[in-house]
Amino acid sequence: MLTLEQAQAAIVKEIRPAFEAETVPLLEADGRYLAAETRAQVDNPAFDNSAMDGYALNLADLSADKLALPLQGESSCGSAPADLIPGTTMRIFTGAPVPAGADAVVIQEDAKREGGLVVFPHSVRPGQNIRPRGEDFRAGDVLYRAGRRLSPFDLALLSSAGLAELPVYRRARALVVATGNELVAPGEPLKPGQIYESNRLATLLQLKSLGVAAVDGGTVKDKPDAVRAMLQEAGAYDFVITSGGVSVGDHDLVKQVFAEIGEINFWKVKVKPGKPVAFGHVGARTHFFGLPGNPVSSLVTFKLFVEPALAAWHHATHRRLELEATAANGFKRHAGRTEFVRARLHMQDDRLLATALKGQGSHMLGTLRETNGFIRVEADSSGFAAGETVAVTPLSVELAS
Ligand code: AMP
Ligand code: MG
Repeated sequence: MLTLEQAQAAIVKEIRPAFEAETVPLLEADGRYLAAETRAQVDNPAFDNSAMDGYALNLADLSADKLALPLQGESSCGSAPADLIPGTTMRIFTGAPVPAGADAVVIQEDAKREGGLVVFPHSVRPGQNIRPRGEDFRAGDVLYRAGRRLSPFDLALLSSAGLAELPVYRRARALVVATGNELVAPGEPLKPGQIYESNRLATLLQLKSLGVAAVDGGTVKDKPDAVRAMLQEAGAYDFVITSGGVSVGDHDLVKQVFAEIGEINFWKVKVKPGKPVAFGHVGARTHFFGLPGNPVSSLVTFKLFVEPALAAWHHATHRRLELEATAANGFKRHAGRTEFVRARLHMQDDRLLATALKGQGSHMLGTLRETNGFIRVEADSSGFAAGETVAVTPLSVELAS
């Protein structure tokens, strides 16, 4: 059985990454992955400009016994000012170009208007309140490399750098299917032995939030023919993600059928929850994930395996933020698998605390109401005591109070 790290490395190694790109306007590039190195088209700032509302002047025009200069002209946003006339000062506003000949701006609160004169304080420094051209980045600088997943912040930067549209990898296409004779959609009455299905929905929604074009393949019965029929179209997708049917029970057919039509790289990993998880390929381009049926295992294995795979497919490197926290309570267990304990992360007196929640069974969704992160317990560890330092991964950057 592979360790978590071995399985993650095997997945990234086996990914057949995207090569088709499309060009989209900035407004449509949010959450997409850049397909080429992107350079700034202009300097930022584009010209020396004022950081404040005030007066532009040349320091050489001031001396200990001459701190007043006649006011001449104005520089406002959106147009080029005249040159500073030697021996004068110019009115200037935030973001407006610094006139040629000026080397400092004094904020209006520090200057005094006396008729046609402006009186300056003693302490004016060269370059004061001037934002120099190119201070942030220069035309031609590489801003991003291929594989960057673009956020609104990134797009603001690219817009300021003069880019109107961007090459991005096409969206990955994924087919999502649930398996199990017992599964029923909510809204229908339950017969004895049946349960409401939830994994397919969570998988579809997580894929959507990662920018994937996810297709709902519905629920299929635990019959080889039904599973075969469902997987007939597999080759049309970049990813096929199933839930259930990958452990060793008699009804666990997904793995079996996938072994017929494709190639399985592994199907068990030393993680908890989620030991039975299969990864493989169908044909030249389709990646296959058989996620476990237990709902929490399905959620956790999606994060542990599918997210890094999607990043690698888009030429990105997946890095998850891991922090140190103080355990608020103890957690005991049998060593053997890397475990992700559902936890509530919270701040107390500037310290990050992690409470291991009650109800860690992989079938127990109720605990998710309080879960905003996971505590990672190493494979050889038998748990932790209250007060110990633990490694945590926040699920959300907003921490519950
Ligand atoms: P399996 O991996 O098929 O052996 O299923 C393990 C457990 O997860 C069983 O209790 C199933 O009833 C349950 N399960 C399987 N698929 C789903 C699903 N899509 N939604 C909710 N529970 C499921
Ligand atoms: Mg099943």
